[in-house]
Amino acid sequence: MTEDVQIVWFKRDLRINDHAPLRAASRHGGPVIPLYIVEPDYWQQPFAARRHWHYIHDSLIDLNTALTGLGQPLVIKIGQASDVLKQLHAAHGSQTIWAHEETGNQWTYDRDIAVHKMCSETGVTLHEIPTNGVVRRLKSRDNWSVIRNARMAERIVSKPAALTPTPACKPDPLPDKADPMFGDKQIGHVQKGGRNAAVADLASFLNHRSRAYLYHISAPELSEFHCSRLSAHLAWGTLSVREVVQSVAKRRTQLGEGDKKQFARNLSAFGSRLAWRCHFIQKIEDQPKIETHCMHPAFEGLRVNDHNEAYFQAWCSGNTGYPFIDACMRNLTVEGWITFRMRAMLVSFASYQLWLDWRITGHHLARVFTDYEPGIHYSQLQMQSGVTGINAMRVYNPIKQSIEHDPTGVFIRKWVPELRGVSDEFIHQPWKRKETLFDDKGRILGEGYPARIVDHVTSAREAKQKISDIRKGADFRKTAKSVLNKLGSRKTVSARRKKVKVEDDSQLSLF
Ligand SMILES: Cc1cc2nc3c(=O)[nH]c(=O)nc-3n(C[C@H](O)[C@H](O)[C@H](O)COP(=O)(O)OP(=O)(O)OC[C@H]3O[C@@H](n4cnc5c(N)ncnc54)[C@H](O)[C@@H]3O)c2cc1C
Repeated sequence: MTEDVQIVWFKRDLRINDHAPLRAASRHGGPVIPLYIVEPDYWQQPFAARRHWHYIHDSLIDLNTALTGLGQPLVIKIGQASDVLKQLHAAHGSQTIWAHEETGNQWTYDRDIAVHKMCSETGVTLHEIPTNGVVRRLKSRDNWSVIRNARMAERIVSKPAALTPTPACKPDPLPDKADPMFGDKQIGHVQKGGRNAAVADLASFLNHRSRAYLYHISAPELSEFHCSRLSAHLAWGTLSVREVVQSVAKRRTQLGEGDKKQFARNLSAFGSRLAWRCHFIQKIEDQPKIETHCMHPAFEGLRVNDHNEAYFQAWCSGNTGYPFIDACMRNLTVEGWITFRMRAMLVSFASYQLWLDWRITGHHLARVFTDYEPGIHYSQLQMQSGVTGINAMRVYNPIKQSIEHDPTGVFIRKWVPELRGVSDEFIHQPWKRKETLFDDKGRILGEGYPARIVDHVTSAREAKQKISDIRKGADFRKTAKSVLNKLGSRKTVSARRKKVKVEDDSQLSLF
């Protein structure tokens, strides 16, 4: 036991349950400073957006309430992380910092390096504890899923009974949601953040909404309800992935015969996605360069020099002239969420038909998604753009998607009101109407909707040809093999995945 002040640095782990750093700091016995640092430089980055801050703001309020209940409220500080931590060391003599390992992007990695440097200069000890099933300094992917599954099966870390306060530590005020630091004005809604919303969403999904999860997973409208909607909660850490994995396991044990039919397959598919989540985050941990570089170097420089700003703006604003693409983008802009298939289709359309570089479209989507999670985001962008070298090229046909997922155009008419008057026959391809006339700005007369900016068939054909030509190049396969070896999944290993057992029911009383 010592009076050494323990700092617990919260980052993308805004909860007190299953929070090993908080638990470890509290066990030490001395005063604790639970700290959240608002880093103005971070909010200037091209992937950061006010929408994320809205979510975080809600979460910090819940976190503060929970910590206050333990005896020490959350301390907010505004500034550069290494400066803030150094000042706390000088003011309170704190010698120990506890945090989760963060697998973010280059900016957060560089920030963490600066913090490590400050710690070694000042004699402060920084303990970083693994999270998200990610293994730091992983030697080989071969055994990864075994380690990940073992971590998911570990006992949930219970919250501390109490914290010894550090009364002399004065916080900065929590910046308002409207603070200019967080960039452009918020358009549309933001999913409610915080632990309370996260636990409620988890409970409603496991108990009710997952009943028809797979059935509606790709439906643009119904997926909003039947998907778990846990992505933002997981991305900002109001739930740990282990809590979710174990809650699924527990729910499965509770299913009666009648429920089994409806839920078991859905929960199993959901569990696989939780594993993908860890798998993708492990990729960026192993190779941080995938934020900025194509996984397969042969694709480097492919699209970037052909950037067409008018196409990019049309795509971002939902004005490409393709009703389903535009409906999805407008829906996403307002809601901050859209289901997987529609994300993939939006990126595919941008990358193939509009020949836009994934780094440019990726920043836009990062800002729009409430659930921006670097590990998943950059890998998926690269996959849907055909630049990994290890995945099959997948070009979505926007008309086929439209007919399959919005057969009567309900979703299109909701989000593209200019087309409300168009009949079902032409709702997916309004340019096919014989009576269509365009004004001198290329707009369909009377409807204010733009003419399509490209022909999706010829533009896709040209794009596929360019990608195929690269894939035929000398050494392409050899390099692809090494990409696969470094970042690819090991299906045979995951197939042997053990079922997660719930070790201790009392730790899982989330609801
Ligand atoms: C281009 C592109 C970018 C994406 N960017 C992000 C991102 O920044 N953040 C993010 O959380 N997801 C991202 N995804 C993956 C996926 O679309 C979302 O995780 C999912 O739609 C979130 O909704 P949900 O929580 O209801 O998902 P559910 O279907 O309920 O899935 C449960 C959880 O599993 C994980 N998950 C689901 N699908 C995937 C997947 N394909 N790969 C890895 N993990 C998955 C997520 O954590 C999700 O919350 C992206 C997909 C694409 C195609």
